[in-house]
Amino acid sequence: MTAPPGRPADAPRGSDGTRTGTVTVSVVGSTGSIGTQTLDVVAQDPERYRVVALGAQRSVDALVEQALTVRPKVVAIGDPSLAGELARRLPAGTEVLAGPDGLAAIATEADVVVNGVVGFAGLSVTLAALEAGRRLALANKESIIAGAPVVASVRDTPGAELLPVDSEHCAVHQCLRSGRRADVARLLLTASGGPFRGRKADELADVGVDEALAHPTWSMGPKITVDSSTLMNKGLEVIEAHELFGVPYDDIDVIVHPQSVVHSMVEFVDGAVVAQLSLPDMRLPIGYALAYPARLASPFGAIDWSELSVLEFEPPDRATFPCLDLAYRAGRAGDLAPAWLNAANEVAVEAFLAGRIAWPAIADVVADTLDRYDAGSPGSGRTVDDVLDADATARGLAATVVAQWSAR
Ligand code: MG
Repeated sequence: MTAPPGRPADAPRGSDGTRTGTVTVSVVGSTGSIGTQTLDVVAQDPERYRVVALGAQRSVDALVEQALTVRPKVVAIGDPSLAGELARRLPAGTEVLAGPDGLAAIATEADVVVNGVVGFAGLSVTLAALEAGRRLALANKESIIAGAPVVASVRDTPGAELLPVDSEHCAVHQCLRSGRRADVARLLLTASGGPFRGRKADELADVGVDEALAHPTWSMGPKITVDSSTLMNKGLEVIEAHELFGVPYDDIDVIVHPQSVVHSMVEFVDGAVVAQLSLPDMRLPIGYALAYPARLASPFGAIDWSELSVLEFEPPDRATFPCLDLAYRAGRAGDLAPAWLNAANEVAVEAFLAGRIAWPAIADVVADTLDRYDAGSPGSGRTVDDVLDADATARGLAATVVAQWSAR
């Protein structure tokens, strides 16, 4: 692929900033949960949205099927060994890119880039989209958490916009539109509590992978579903909220809300709390990030108020779910500590899914790894290599810790 001489023109915008012409969309991580739901949203309004690029790590079959339907100009595959097979099976004239650079390249191809990559691997996509001055619809929270020191430096690129595709942060983004930033007292992130809400540590010693993957309200990929069972997902979201909205950790609270109808809230200094409610469906945050400041008409259903009788709220059980406070600890330490937290957690979750460690050891692996975090020199002027080094170091340590815990 030859790089364009300058960035292609954005879709035209109306006076309120709404894009008026056809909006081009690039979907990275297109075969995952967020990616497939993005294609679903886009398919509802083909006049307005056109998918020009698709990318996935290694799901060739699904990628080919998607490409035959949406006919993008470019398709990228993260695993270069699969590029030949992919090229043979795509319609003639479709450009094929391969490797992490290929995935990052398609992040510069469109008006809106949806980053639905799972885990730390999404960092290069986030950076490429922002550096190219694109709107980034960010479902890959790991990149803004682990890569905070470098993501911050490219967010000011002219044209770059970051819209969170995470239900809580999308909710906060909406709530913040009702007041001045200076008048915000607290962000209140809601958590479903996951499949193990209400259970105590001694009841969770032997829970299996199937139980951890049985989320009560949300349909998501396996990594984030396990993160929900440990409350690490909420911990990561606390850091994500701090990075996205610049609110101090002392002013970000977590409230368990089992119905997953209130997606988060903002409390203002006068005591007013503004909340966003909707059915738990990720197609709303995806559509919001595509259309902001406009809204897409939803074919996905609205709340039936005759059915909805109870909204419950309770404090999180921080003793049974220590990952939440581990995330606060890493967030407050700042700099590269969130990168360590994220790396250790990815290694631990992988080991749990592979049956190598018990569910409670996920938190132990993260805690033991984080204990060895050495802040070293101060964080200003961090580079991508610093973040990659921190990630690799923490992964190596976490793998050692996993071996210790799996031996018990
Ligand atoms: Mg979320």
